[in-house]
Amino acid sequence: MTRYIFITGGVVSSLGKGLMAASLAALLQARGFRVRIRKFDPYLNVDPGTMSPYQHGEVYVTDDGAETDLDLGHYERFTGVSARQSDNVTQGRVYQTIIQRERRGDYLGATVQVIPHVTDEIKAFATADTDDLDFVLCEIGGTVGDIESLPFMEAIRQLHNDLDRGQSIFVHVTLVPYIAAAGELKTKPTQRSVRDLTSLGIQPDILLCRCEHPLPDSERRKIALFCNVRPEAVIPARDAKSIYAVPEQYHAEGLDREVLRAFGMGDAPPPKLDRWVDIMDRQLNPEGEVTIGVVGKYVGLLDAYKSLYEALNHGGLANRVKVNVKWIDAELFEKGDDLAASLEPMHGILVPGGFGVRGSEGKIASVRFARERNVPFFGICLGMQMACIEGARNTAGIPDASTTEFGETSEPVVGLITEWMSTEGLQKRTAETDLGGTMRLGAYPAKLTGNSVVAGIYGVDDISERHRHRYEVNAGYRERLEKGGLIFSGMSPDGTLPEIVERPDHPWFVGVQFHPELKSKPFDPHPLFASFIEAAVKQSRLV
Ligand code: GLN
Repeated sequence: MTRYIFITGGVVSSLGKGLMAASLAALLQARGFRVRIRKFDPYLNVDPGTMSPYQHGEVYVTDDGAETDLDLGHYERFTGVSARQSDNVTQGRVYQTIIQRERRGDYLGATVQVIPHVTDEIKAFATADTDDLDFVLCEIGGTVGDIESLPFMEAIRQLHNDLDRGQSIFVHVTLVPYIAAAGELKTKPTQRSVRDLTSLGIQPDILLCRCEHPLPDSERRKIALFCNVRPEAVIPARDAKSIYAVPEQYHAEGLDREVLRAFGMGDAPPPKLDRWVDIMDRQLNPEGEVTIGVVGKYVGLLDAYKSLYEALNHGGLANRVKVNVKWIDAELFEKGDDLAASLEPMHGILVPGGFGVRGSEGKIASVRFARERNVPFFGICLGMQMACIEGARNTAGIPDASTTEFGETSEPVVGLITEWMSTEGLQKRTAETDLGGTMRLGAYPAKLTGNSVVAGIYGVDDISERHRHRYEVNAGYRERLEKGGLIFSGMSPDGTLPEIVERPDHPWFVGVQFHPELKSKPFDPHPLFASFIEAAVKQSRLV
């Protein structure tokens, strides 16, 4: 039997529901259960692909090519379970499906309504493809009381009723704020938010209370009494030293025990937490540190590079060093900031993925600095394209090299991809194609050159990595770029799309067209990040 855990949030947003869901899933997994986590997003965009990173943070891409909420990245990093398109649904997608069906006449003359049509669609999404699972955790985005999330609340209320008794529970994440002037933790916001929830017909089984101070027993009992839960099911959730400390911490507070007890499974085996203990040992006891300069565009909002930040951290775990990330706004170099002064203290330079011309000359100048000064360089997606343009301009004698993404150019070293093969057959695009969901998305295989640097790093010649791009390096320039020392060491299996470039004569210089950060895990750091940080450690001994 598949059991369901519905996770809602109250009082304020940004309580870390995603991390909580990921940590609970990790704890259940550590007890031997098979888990999957799903996210319901109440906004009306069909997916977050067209939203600015400033609005929404990073767009997390799955193997099957879905552009999803960044919480799915947490889910994968904590459980190792590859997320799928069917694990993230927005209200926009639900309505899109229903309206398409209505236009086709599939409702046979019925009036199409929120209840039952929208709620049925949400329930179908929650319960699809769950045969091989012990637990499905469903996180509802937003905060109880939002107008937008009402259909989702109603759907989980109904589903709880549709399922067998004891087959589903509700976990509510709330805030217990500390009022410094009174020196007290306040339980009223939690009481109010549970009241909002019960007015929707949902009685939480477990309350996870985010708090900055220890939750005294008296307050725990008070919350229990007013919110109609047992005192042991009021779980304090204080800020953790690291996100990877959260599973152990919640376990110590009894979260997984209470969840299993709510399902009547109190006798489940204890979790094996060795994996998390080892990660925390590496995280808290580093043997050195390195500083990586990330030269990008969305440096004002860390969520915009969430997976990248985590993957750099994982590279540090692999090498037992602390990784300090310095976020550098590429545009400042175009406005006169001293590039050498900013980049000289860095042990590695990374140009991440991105869109649009803003800051691109600053990124290209940063690639040049890394190349000329022998500083480890990692270019990801747009970063690889910038490395190719830099190489073309400064090592291949093509001074006008550019990308068609930035406007018309006589030397399109990077250009729009118009055709490529996917598992669904030949894909075609033009400059007029819709922006939403039409990039080259998801996992694609690549072939590495046998004796290349990257083949050595991966230890294999055939890889599969996740993509999200509309432009590609133009293979027609390969010979000239290679003469300039920039070697094409990874290609799509048909040999048409460049996937990896490297400079073998440099201490560490790799550009990849895909996003390796999306597949890195704390317990399984991505080889490219592990190797890049290893090179940065060597560099730190030189400067
Ligand atoms: N803007 C570039 C493209 O579409 C790179 C995209 C990215 O870095 N994710 O190809």
